[in-house]
Amino acid sequence: MQTFVDFGLKPSILNALSELGYEEPTPVQEQAIPLLLEGHDVIAQAQTGTGKTAAFALPIIQKIQQQRVPQILILTPTRELAMQVAEAIFRYGKGSKVSVVPVYGGQPIFRQLRALEQGIQIVVGTPGRIMDHMRRGTLALDQIHTVVLDEADEMLDMGFIEDIEYILQQTPQERQTALFSATMPADVINLAHRYCQDPRRINIVSEQLTVPRTRQTYYEVLPRDKLDALTRILDAEMPTSAIIFCRTRSEADTLGESLQGRGYLAEVIHGDLAQTQRDRVMKRFRESQVELLVATDVAARGLDIPEVSHVINYDVPNDAESYVHRIGRTGRAGRTGEAITIITPRERRQMMQIERMSKARITRQRLPSLADVAARRREAFKDALRDVMAEDNLDPYILMVEEMGEEFDIVDLAAGAFKLLLNEAEEEDTITSVEGDGIGVEPGMTRLFLDVGRSNRVRPADIVGAIANEAGLPGRTIGSIDIYDRFAFVEVPAEYAQRVMRVLNGTTLRGKKVRVSIAKPKR
Ligand code: AMP
Repeated sequence: MQTFVDFGLKPSILNALSELGYEEPTPVQEQAIPLLLEGHDVIAQAQTGTGKTAAFALPIIQKIQQQRVPQILILTPTRELAMQVAEAIFRYGKGSKVSVVPVYGGQPIFRQLRALEQGIQIVVGTPGRIMDHMRRGTLALDQIHTVVLDEADEMLDMGFIEDIEYILQQTPQERQTALFSATMPADVINLAHRYCQDPRRINIVSEQLTVPRTRQTYYEVLPRDKLDALTRILDAEMPTSAIIFCRTRSEADTLGESLQGRGYLAEVIHGDLAQTQRDRVMKRFRESQVELLVATDVAARGLDIPEVSHVINYDVPNDAESYVHRIGRTGRAGRTGEAITIITPRERRQMMQIERMSKARITRQRLPSLADVAARRREAFKDALRDVMAEDNLDPYILMVEEMGEEFDIVDLAAGAFKLLLNEAEEEDTITSVEGDGIGVEPGMTRLFLDVGRSNRVRPADIVGAIANEAGLPGRTIGSIDIYDRFAFVEVPAEYAQRVMRVLNGTTLRGKKVRVSIAKPKR
């Protein structure tokens, strides 16, 4: 396995990566970094989330020359991506003395002009704004030795082809060119071959991957609500043993501490721990003294991790393989498992890509409400109570009940005891709900209304299962599912809507007869 050190990157970069907690290169980094360092042109097919930004940013930072003139040009389809790429370079280049500026439409041009005048080495921007600066004479391209086209397919979709070609023609011929694209349609390949010299191809595309017996769901929350969302999910799901994956060591450490601080039995495991420490943590996890194992991918890979009831992705994994690998820790040997991913709105596209690549059905779920959590705790309390009743050493307590029974009605007395034990505080829900794409009906889909919901313990998998089995629809064709307390919505391809209604009407889900109708349009 390669490490960042093997690439011969300079110490300032290695430091920055270590501070960010990157443990090892991702596949696209493993392939692209050596080629780019050797000076080859590169055509790479890689999606967002694969670590492609660092794949081109690290060689750029490594090879930057001292002079304060524009040396590197990175073209992106959108201002958001331009900003993200500039931020990433800034982070990786901390300590390496690199100057980077994003230029994009929508920001007052004078600010960008000032930045450019100060001698910027790396310019990241949308083709339109780069052209503006070229026309104004505020961006000289004659010293550019490296050009990166990021998300080339998106740029072409947005009609930037002529601008891109014009810009490329104004840069020196002997430049190094790298093109990154999630897909490789003919026009992208054409562009690549016209402007790259003897390019090396890299293809980070996942194989077909499936994890059948695991229920896969995701929740979308704002970044600031992630920790609260995680603890809410843990409280509702009450996993007996769970692995929570984080992308970086530092994140794993922080999360582990936060969970411990909130009273969860959590321990962290990552590449920085000595072998003896890891062994100790794993022993405690196996013996159920620890319920939650917070891990990075690398740490988890080298370990013999026992079957867990839940795998939780605290961040979206880098790619579909890593997703499938992570969630393969649950649902083994015919048992069902839960795979839960927490995403932020920015990661929505990445989640969709993983769903597509892994050929899995990953259902968007609403975060459990405080009432859901309370209901779940009451159920667990009742179960525990049943266990206690089954034992017969209740005598001292019976005495207590008899004594207090003279003062109170027995039912009131039991209710009071439950209240005391359950200790339910009135809480205000502080998590902001994020409305997702699943809210509007997708074109070509029909939204159906089902009169069963969470209170009937119906889960997305039940609905998918019923539709797949009864109506013979492949699970993948079923659209978004939203489950509320007493009802649920599911989207199915319009042409099957009637058939699904016909066969589902009257069947039972979790022991309750279902009535299905076409959902009324949302206002
Ligand atoms: P990208 O595909 O460039 O958008 O990167 C996706 C995410 O992966 C970003 O949040 C990066 O910070 C993160 N990332 C990139 N490389 C690594 C790595 N080697 N280890 C851990 N995280 C990484």
